[in-house]
Amino acid sequence: MDKIVIALDGPSGAGKSSLAKAIAAKLGIVYLDTGALYRTVGLFVRRNDADPKNEEAVSALLPELDIDVKIVDGAQQVYLNGECVGDAIRTPEMSMYASAVSALPSVRAFLLDTQRAFARRSSVIMDGRDIGTVVLPDADVKIFLTASDEVRAQRRLKELLEKGQTVTFEEVLSDMRARDLADSTRAAAPLKIADDAKLLDNSELDFDGTVAAALDIISAAK
Ligand code: C5P
Repeated sequence: MDKIVIALDGPSGAGKSSLAKAIAAKLGIVYLDTGALYRTVGLFVRRNDADPKNEEAVSALLPELDIDVKIVDGAQQVYLNGECVGDAIRTPEMSMYASAVSALPSVRAFLLDTQRAFARRSSVIMDGRDIGTVVLPDADVKIFLTASDEVRAQRRLKELLEKGQTVTFEEVLSDMRARDLADSTRAAAPLKIADDAKLLDNSELDFDGTVAAALDIISAAK
């Protein structure tokens, strides 16, 4: 297969990471979850007791932060100054920290090279918010995956409960709406559909249906 670069964007809870993992396995390409990078910056900011909305404070920490991504047995591991962050970045608190730091232009610039390097090295499917619009504007395929906010909150709730976290549907829905609003109204690289992206709304589709629809979009673009 020729080298292929796929950009997958959309709001939280649309199922981007499950879809990207399935597509990566099917096509034998690398999957990069870019949200994990913002979460790792958030974790570092939290550990340093800094305000994640304060650009000056966060920028001052960035020179002390080294983020590395390794693909181990097909799974992505993120390293913060040499330490594997594992699930420490997957809490609701880190979702809010990630959302706050991701609005800062210095953080976005800091993570840009790490993301682009992946697409230079190999065939990749990268998921995030601004992959098709900013990170990889020349991607071969761009998909914008979305679903209604109730459906997305229900899916995220299931994921969190499976991880043993204690949250309610209302909490997840209101966190998600707050993040959607912050992500789509920020000045730096807001969440929006690229002009040349294909919209895939999976509110009414199950997982296999979503994978099939995405594979159709990819084959049509090749
Ligand atoms: O995808 P995930 O929920 O892990 O992303 C966490 C947060 O990181 C998002 O709410 C968003 O604010 C931010 N993000 C971003 N750009 C990306 C990926 C994630 O701004 N490419």
